[in-house]
Amino acid sequence: MSILKIARIGHPVVRTAAKPVAKKAFGDPAFQKLIDDMRETMYEYEGVGVAAPQVHVSLRLAVLEVPGSESQEEIPFTVVANPVITPIGDEAENGWEGCLSVPDLRGVVPRLKQLRLEALDRHGKAFSLEASDFFARVIQHECDHLDGQVYLDRMAEMKSLTFIKEFEAHVLGDNEEE
Ligand SMILES: [Zn+2]
Repeated sequence: MSILKIARIGHPVVRTAAKPVAKKAFGDPAFQKLIDDMRETMYEYEGVGVAAPQVHVSLRLAVLEVPGSESQEEIPFTVVANPVITPIGDEAENGWEGCLSVPDLRGVVPRLKQLRLEALDRHGKAFSLEASDFFARVIQHECDHLDGQVYLDRMAEMKSLTFIKEFEAHVLGDNEEE
């Protein structure tokens, strides 16, 4: 496995709508290696998801995984190809996001609280699931990448945009005092 180079904002691939994964691609060893490499890259940079355009591959493909913690339920490693999101209800929720393609920053982004995801797995098999809260947020963030969008585009206002060091000092720090 290899750690892939991350495309940052400014590189056209981050802003390009990606092409659907073709049926025949799933049987291609190079495609399977891409998924493994995306997984390795996600671990290396401690992301909770990586979309193919972020590793310079303009395909509708993303991987995600969130380790469990006190405040967060574990989300197992999941491959999504050609995903379609359907909102469940219209409730939105604000939450902090960061992005490997937008290094060193965090910002508050409103997202759907609950959704249904329909996608293909790494073998091209269709699956669907319902997600809420942080899981739903990660799915929306990764699927946006497939349309050439980053979380900055979704922010209701820019005032919350914060460098990670200041985020740790003033946002996480504030929470500790509560
Ligand atoms: Zn991102």
